[in-house]
Amino acid sequence: MSGAEAPAASRLPGPARNMALEDVRAKADKAREAQAQWRRYTLTQRVERVRGFWRELQASKDRLISVVHRETGKPATEIEVMELCGVELILKYFTRNAHRILKDQAASRPWIFLNKKAYVRHVPRGLVGLITPWNYPLLIPLGDALAALIAGNAVLLKPSEWTTDTAMFLEGVFKATGLFPDGLLAVAPGDGTVGAEVIAQADMILFTGSTKTGRAVAKAAAERLIPCVLELGGKHPMIVLKDAPLERAAKAAVWGRFANSGQTCVGVERVYVEQEVYDAFTELVAREVSQLRQGLEPGYDVDLGRLIYPRQLETVLALINDAKEKGARVVGGEVVDADRLVVAPALVLDAKQEMRVMREEAFGPVLPIMAVRASEEAVRLANDSELGLAASIWSRDLARAETLAAHLEAGLIGVNDLMGHYAVCSLPFGGFKQSGVGRRHSDDGLRMFCQSQSVLAHEWPANAPEPWWFPYNELKVKLVSWLTKLS
Ligand code: NDP
Repeated sequence: MSGAEAPAASRLPGPARNMALEDVRAKADKAREAQAQWRRYTLTQRVERVRGFWRELQASKDRLISVVHRETGKPATEIEVMELCGVELILKYFTRNAHRILKDQAASRPWIFLNKKAYVRHVPRGLVGLITPWNYPLLIPLGDALAALIAGNAVLLKPSEWTTDTAMFLEGVFKATGLFPDGLLAVAPGDGTVGAEVIAQADMILFTGSTKTGRAVAKAAAERLIPCVLELGGKHPMIVLKDAPLERAAKAAVWGRFANSGQTCVGVERVYVEQEVYDAFTELVAREVSQLRQGLEPGYDVDLGRLIYPRQLETVLALINDAKEKGARVVGGEVVDADRLVVAPALVLDAKQEMRVMREEAFGPVLPIMAVRASEEAVRLANDSELGLAASIWSRDLARAETLAAHLEAGLIGVNDLMGHYAVCSLPFGGFKQSGVGRRHSDDGLRMFCQSQSVLAHEWPANAPEPWWFPYNELKVKLVSWLTKLS
């Protein structure tokens, strides 16, 4: 980015001020009152109103994109394609499938209970607390909020303090639609202390963020015995086999790492390439990287923006320096504008597994590539991590790639593909190992916003007691044992 292209504002927006904790509690109380009304709406009404909210948001699309751009510096294309289109696909899946997913489900019962009805109802949890990070300020909170609302809940959202304006914009449009009981979707701005208060108020927590904070959130939720779903960090290993479609794989590595300036939990964090194609692959990658257009202009002709969270700059630079000290060849990675958190994309060539950049989540525009002798070595190194969110494998032999992929310890697997899982909402989204607990999306990801209520209803004979009730006697024992054996 040249100085001439730089936007006029030289300072980035700072973190939001904390909402007073009594105000967070008041918002939670109001959201509960709203939910008591909302849960009585039919599912059809809820779906229609959520669709109405989405239509209003689309009508404000340009303003929304400019708010997200101001807070994050993301290229407009990424806001529109990766965030807005992502939400739309999530919304379509849940609105089209909500009736099937949330309808009462008949349960099978043993023969001895054949004179009764058994079924499961899905009852909204009440107040769902969402605690979200700064990297996708629209996609993550909005996708989850829409699902929680369709399931009949109120939502109390604590966005990252660095991307609060986006959340406030959503809350404003939601309220202005007039389609919902007042306060049903509430935003509580601030840092972790506000997040802790959200956990103290909610009936369920869906947390997206770092593994470290996720652990603290899980402890706080355990104290209250409320369910807690955790979507945490990732260290995506991309395995490029010698028969991979190299052009596609190289383009995928560059997009998979540098989209959103590398701040994507499922983004490529390390590449293992079979020795035979290492030079050809890295050349293609280097050519792709050299063509990236970095800038903070709001238009569509920009590929790469900036870091969002100031402390990420230190993290990224520390990982690059560690790699250099341990013998890697680094291309790029210069700090273009420290005040505005702009770092040029960095390639770390000849990376080694012991380098920090291969082991710690970088969450920035740095792509380490390491040569391996064989696919088995690549799989072993890929699994040599505490994290297990996403992984991908690249080969023209689809059957072999899928077989190898079964050995990868990650919740989201790409075969000649990556990073699309979030938009395929029928797939459960979440990680193995320290990358999380539970899954969002899929049918279960809508049902998780409900408690299952199991109903057993006696049908006939209306007034007869059960043989296992008082008074006990031997004949009844024989009868029940016989009926149990028949069941
Ligand atoms: P953090 O864990 O730092 O923060 C996440 C959210 O938790 C923020 O809103 C934060 O508030 C809040 N928070 C911090 N402390 C507490 C606390 N004690 N109690 C309750 N809430 C608290 O993550 P980042 O915002 O730095 O996001 C980056 C991380 O998110 C990466 O590790 C990335 O991999 C992960 N991520 C995972 C995804 C997934 O689906 N698996 C998707 C996207 C990101 P504040 O920051 O305002 O102080």
